Amino acid sequence: MINILEFNLNELKQHFIKRGVKPFRAEQIFDWIFKKHVFDFSKMLNLPKDFRDVLKMEYVIGFPELSNKQISSVDGTHKYLWNLDDGEKIESVLLIHKDRNTACISTQVGCSLKCGFCATGKSGFSRNLKVSEIVGQVLAMTVEYGERIGNIVYMGMGEPFLNYDNLKKSIQILHSKEAFDISKRRISVSTAGIIPGILKMAEDFPEVVLSISLHAPNNRIRERLMPISQTYPFQQLIHTVRQYNEITGKRVTIEYLLIKEVNDSLEQAVLLAKTLKELKVNLNLIPVNPVNPDFERPSFKQISAFKQIMEKSGIDTVIRQEKGTDIAGACGQLKTQSIKGEVF
Ligand code: SAH
Repeated sequence: MINILEFNLNELKQHFIKRGVKPFRAEQIFDWIFKKHVFDFSKMLNLPKDFRDVLKMEYVIGFPELSNKQISSVDGTHKYLWNLDDGEKIESVLLIHKDRNTACISTQVGCSLKCGFCATGKSGFSRNLKVSEIVGQVLAMTVEYGERIGNIVYMGMGEPFLNYDNLKKSIQILHSKEAFDISKRRISVSTAGIIPGILKMAEDFPEVVLSISLHAPNNRIRERLMPISQTYPFQQLIHTVRQYNEITGKRVTIEYLLIKEVNDSLEQAVLLAKTLKELKVNLNLIPVNPVNPDFERPSFKQISAFKQIMEKSGIDTVIRQEKGTDIAGACGQLKTQSIKGEVF
């Protein structure tokens, strides 16, 4: 069976042309799927009966199936656990704000990077997600929640740039007018610092927001927290941010976890400010979420003092409000098995 959700619109048109089917049929099918949420070919009444029969026999509209849903009693965040065809499980999160819904989606089953502070890496890496499984998370959440999703962050499980081709196709589908029609400025991709991926994004999607998980003011501390720093060292990463700034003319969002007595001292703040001052960036400070008992949140006073140093250096800084912590749905808390009653 061929899964229609593996294709972007252009590919589906080409696929149909090869089979002697008029390309505008692809548009009609996209309309049924993405606008009307009809997933049964026999109900797509503007398609000829013969074609519907072929579709039913040879094609599916396959996306992740809901296994469990949790809703935060604190902030209304929804966390979904999905079943995939081969028995793997992944999670996505829907952040509900007054004026917008933001989906936080996964790109891999597990993660290979083993960052010390993140739960996803602890369960190991199984495989990359298919295009249908990436866009399928957004489609399934739209149907489940019953409202349009207009913002996407690729900040769920996995490293998006280690699944680049499927990431790319999924962004095309999310952006496509005939599918989700989400503006590229409302799509963010977060990377642990895979340099070739950052440079490809600058060429392929300069409008998409790029976030980089930096989390340290130098290579020594970064290597301790993020083993990927051995492959893509701190200074090279900073150089790549500068290149990205030049190619796209756009800022990068730098994410910096604040971990008590690891990377939160005021000397480290000064060091970070010195590096970031030379770049076009926004800084998100994120008090670490509970995953690993060795990594604690700094006090509020320490967080404010760190922020002040950054601001004095002219760096636009916000302290990110975390959502969904009570249901382990916040950054770094997603796992392949999490809704089995495990506690960190
Ligand atoms: N692999 C990508 C995207 C997934 S992680 C990346 O590393 O950016 C999304 C964000 O959550 C990253 O900034 C990541 O560093 C952060 N994160 C991981 N563990 C966390 C934790 N325990 N508390 C807060 N944020 C965490």
